Amino acid sequence: MRKKARYVNEDLCTGCGSCAEKCPTPAVDTFNTGIGQRKAIYKYFAQGIPSVFTIDAPSCRQLGQGKKCGVCAKTCQAKAIDFEQKDRMVEIEAGAIVMATGYDVFDPSVIPEYGYGRIKNVVTALEFERLLSASGPTAGHLDRPSELTLEKEIEETGKEVRKLSARIKQLEEKQGKTSDEVISQVKAGASDEPLVEWAKQAESLAEMQAALAAMNRKMAAATTAKKLAFIQCVGSRDFRFNRYCSSYCCMHSVKEAMIANEHDREVHSSIFCMDLRAVGRGFEEYKLRGGQQANIEYIRGRVAEITEDEAKNPVVWFESTTERHVKSEVFDMVVLAAACVPSAGTARLAQLAGVELDTNGFVKTDPLMPLATTRPGIFVCGCAQGPMDIPESVAQASSAAACAAEAVIGAQITLKATA
Ligand SMILES: Cc1cc2nc3c(=O)[nH]c(=O)nc-3n(C[C@H](O)[C@H](O)[C@H](O)COP(=O)(O)OP(=O)(O)OC[C@H]3O[C@@H](n4cnc5c(N)ncnc54)[C@H](O)[C@@H]3O)c2cc1C
Ligand code: SF4
Ligand code: SF4
Repeated sequence: MRKKARYVNEDLCTGCGSCAEKCPTPAVDTFNTGIGQRKAIYKYFAQGIPSVFTIDAPSCRQLGQGKKCGVCAKTCQAKAIDFEQKDRMVEIEAGAIVMATGYDVFDPSVIPEYGYGRIKNVVTALEFERLLSASGPTAGHLDRPSELTLEKEIEETGKEVRKLSARIKQLEEKQGKTSDEVISQVKAGASDEPLVEWAKQAESLAEMQAALAAMNRKMAAATTAKKLAFIQCVGSRDFRFNRYCSSYCCMHSVKEAMIANEHDREVHSSIFCMDLRAVGRGFEEYKLRGGQQANIEYIRGRVAEITEDEAKNPVVWFESTTERHVKSEVFDMVVLAAACVPSAGTARLAQLAGVELDTNGFVKTDPLMPLATTRPGIFVCGCAQGPMDIPESVAQASSAAACAAEAVIGAQITLKATA
């Protein structure tokens, strides 16, 4: 096992977070699917175990960029920061192994007609979950990604405007004349280099201020997303990508549409699906409740294309198979139910462990022994074995632990019997 360097001694760290408060380096917030920022020293997510901090070495000034910093080490009262930590190879002599390495989300940008990555307000279901979360980057408000980008642009342009205004004000005070006078002088033929440069800067400030005002007007008119489209089977049940059903995405779309409506009763959701697979106790009733109480409409039709209008609204083109019509509809935001695919390291891990994979790349099991891999003593549970929801993953995890215990205890009994 490779135990990655955390650069924080986990026995000393109390999880107080004062290091992250003081760390001057922002980094992309990977847990929030890249929406928003965290610090270079961070906790992967609030409920993570152990509840200790980690330095993201490539983002850190000291570890990744070779600059001087160490603010976290100075701040940490528990003296837990350890810049000298290295990755360690740990050997464990095990009687049984459980593979529980989960899944990855299919990358929808390989389906160009859905515009993911190109159309800002087309997001994956995982990104939408983070937007919906009260502890997420928008505190649960359905701010559209296009407006989040605009907000960032306003912030950056505002900073530039403040900097340039201060510089120009200084010039005006020092030289005792206004920028308008300088611009007029240059227009009248003055070719003195500092004056020309001053006029250029003053003009560019005026342009930036106008752009900032336009952006602010646009932002003031923006509202949170009210009209949502959910597109099912993105990369699943599709012969171009994965033939299998990802099993949990129908229900997570209904759940997300229900939560969005709980946040704001004006939210209306259209769920586009071939069929909605509500397989599980009470799932069908949950789906119906969504339709009756949470403004959810189920549309039988496979979406062909998503385009974008001038207001950055996604436009969904689809065939309504019940009405036998090709239609298009404008939405505030589109959520893609991207397939469940084997996690990136599964093939390598299977090779190391000497277990076989099935035709879809998940760990192969025997239909009569669903937790046993092709190698005795190695078990698998959850999405490493194939797409499944949390209750099923948890039930499998308990069973796999029991199988592992049985294998170890059985071996001990055999050893004692032969001794
Ligand atoms: C958007 C979305 C919403 C969902 N909502 C619901 C819901 O509401 N209800 C529900 O029941 N299900 C939901 N699901 C499904 C749910 O996410 C899965 O059922 C569940 O996460 C499967 O658990 P797991 O432990 O098998 O895999 P994972 O949750 O993927 O956990 C695997 C862990 O193993 C780690 N790992 C991988 N490789 C290695 C390695 N080599 N070494 C060490 N660690 C490794 C990973 O980092 C990860 O932490 C949702 C899924 C999505 C995409
Ligand atoms: S050394 Fe500086 S940049 Fe790196 S984690 Fe500590 S405070 Fe942040
Ligand atoms: S669970 Fe629903 S959305 Fe997901 S692949 Fe199966 S049918 Fe498609």
